[in-house]
Amino acid sequence: MQGKLQPQRQMRRAAAAAAVAVDPQLLAGAVEAAIASRSPRLGRAAHARALRLLVPALPPFICAHLVNLYSKLDLPGAAAAALAADPSPTVVSYTAFISGAAQHARPLQALSAFAAMLRLGLRPNDFTFPSAFKAAAAASAPAAPAVGPQVHALALRFGYLPDDAFVSCAALDMYFKTGRLALARRLFDEMPNRNVVSWNAVMTNAVLDGRPLETVDAYFGLRGTSGMPNVVSVCAFFNACAGMTYLFLGEQFHGFVAKCGFDKDVSVSNSMVDFYGKCRCVGKARVVFDGMGVRNSVSWCSMVVAYAQNGAEEEAFLVYLGARRAGEEPTDFMVSSVLTTCAGLLGLDLGRALHAVAVRSCIDANIFVASALVDMYGKCGGVRDAEQVFFEMPQRNLVTWNAMIGGYAHIGDAWNALAVFDEMIMGRETAPNYITLVNVLTACSRGGLTMEGYELFQTMKQRFGIEPRIEHYACVVDLLGRAGMEERAYEIIQGMPMRPSISVWGALLGGCKMHGKTELGRIAAEKLFELDPRDSGNHVLLSNMLASAGRWAEATDIRKEMKNVGIKKDPGRSWITWKNVVHVFQAKDTTHEMNSEIQALLAKLKGQMQAAGYMPDTQYALYDLEEEEKESEVFQHSEKLALAFGLICIPPGVPIRIMKNLRICVDCHRAFKFISGIVGREIIVRDNNMFHHFKDYECSCKDYW
Ligand code: ZN
Ligand code: ZN
Repeated sequence: MQGKLQPQRQMRRAAAAAAVAVDPQLLAGAVEAAIASRSPRLGRAAHARALRLLVPALPPFICAHLVNLYSKLDLPGAAAAALAADPSPTVVSYTAFISGAAQHARPLQALSAFAAMLRLGLRPNDFTFPSAFKAAAAASAPAAPAVGPQVHALALRFGYLPDDAFVSCAALDMYFKTGRLALARRLFDEMPNRNVVSWNAVMTNAVLDGRPLETVDAYFGLRGTSGMPNVVSVCAFFNACAGMTYLFLGEQFHGFVAKCGFDKDVSVSNSMVDFYGKCRCVGKARVVFDGMGVRNSVSWCSMVVAYAQNGAEEEAFLVYLGARRAGEEPTDFMVSSVLTTCAGLLGLDLGRALHAVAVRSCIDANIFVASALVDMYGKCGGVRDAEQVFFEMPQRNLVTWNAMIGGYAHIGDAWNALAVFDEMIMGRETAPNYITLVNVLTACSRGGLTMEGYELFQTMKQRFGIEPRIEHYACVVDLLGRAGMEERAYEIIQGMPMRPSISVWGALLGGCKMHGKTELGRIAAEKLFELDPRDSGNHVLLSNMLASAGRWAEATDIRKEMKNVGIKKDPGRSWITWKNVVHVFQAKDTTHEMNSEIQALLAKLKGQMQAAGYMPDTQYALYDLEEEEKESEVFQHSEKLALAFGLICIPPGVPIRIMKNLRICVDCHRAFKFISGIVGREIIVRDNNMFHHFKDYECSCKDYW
């Protein structure tokens, strides 16, 4: 702390000392000291002294210093006033103004000042042009697509292109940022003085645009001209390897980086943590993280995200707690990154804890944090909480809208999903993207709004300019399949411009199973076997479908085929948490420490349910089991065991949340509806497909699933 304060104190003293003198040089020094200590108060004090002492007019170089002061401190009004007060503005004051405006995301202001200085006949210099290019890149498309090339033409006319390396890098960057790749490449090829900065412009822009292969190519291009990479190049290379999950290449590069000592740089280490995390080597990410001498807030976030991406939510949360212990303030970036990890079973509790942290740190209204909260609550099945955050938000972005619609889609609430979607379109502030439409279509399909969803699919290109992608096709096939329109769905599949994916055929098979369309189901299943021969679910689905159509011989054939190829059915597993401990149940599991209580409760519930009119559905469930298993086995399904455990442990009034790795079966679904009514509890099941909210003898999916 002492070391940090010392220079600031010195600067303040210098500023104070200068302020009493009349020497303009000393006043200029006071202005510079104010910039260095980022203090508007000191700056204004120096400005005031200058006005009082330097009568009748401020010398031009003091004016330039003042423009620079206010531009650097991001005080646009004061900067413009200082520039206007300059009786004979020079290229120095204009350049200070332009670069300040470009730095602080006011590109139009920067460009109009650039035009003004040209009108005055001032010659822009090699510092003016990079800022003008930066502003042109930010202001360009679609408002003013020609601005960038115009600045380019001027740079040529004033002789800074093609020879000045920094001006040409700025031009290159502008062309990349405005998506004119061909022009960017031509400019790059024609550059006589390529340096590491120009190669970096190629590398970083390729990563940003999702062309990681080009980043790697450019890196080797740089090395081929015997140039040395710098920290920016190294980070871009790791980002590219992360984007392509090129583990081997990145690991080799790690060796080189360590040899050159780049790994001591905090941003290089951060990009390595990110790289290993994305390549599913979270252990190696941790080694890099643990070896870091200095960490910043990005380092902690990268480690959290690395764990989260690899399904290690608990570790992710522990790292977050570590960051807090290390004195990291919970920033909006940190909290929203950690929130994105809260999707699994423990998610809701952690998410709520983070919500509390966000409120305490006054960042809960931040658009990124609030959007992440809506998303987290939606994904964890807490749609009412998601709504509350959503409706209180002062402003919303695309992520927010998509998260809210997605939350409704998760529980199959099509009406509310459509209502929010309509509100989004009416607002005209945020245009829907392809994810929005996937969410709306999913909601329509799960909520049984077939015609609404089908019409949206048919008109999406014309209304929103969004070409249907494979996900949209999967949604519409699912939608029509649920409504018993499998034939129409099959026609759509045959007309698809791309190769139908597993999800498309899977949706068709699901519909066929639901409506007993055995022939079409068989076609879908055969396609699925081709695309994914090892998946057990499709084989089981087809054999169940054949069995329920009474075609036992064919059903048995499929089972035999599964055995021959060595495909094992995934065992059904359900999870429930109680007091931060995860309890896992498998069908017929008797190993749980509370097994006798669980069995006793299930027997009692069975009697109560039968009295209320429940009949076990063993049609599918029975066939799912091996031949020697008995009918009573339906009552030993993993989700029922988990529910019984939850009913015993979790106090009344708290919803019971269960997660299952397969789809919930027909019998359990029916049983849960009865149990929710009999015991008066809310039960939420998240299976591998969606959420089911059971309450008062009903399920939110209205039996569509
Ligand atoms: Zn079941
Ligand atoms: Zn349901």
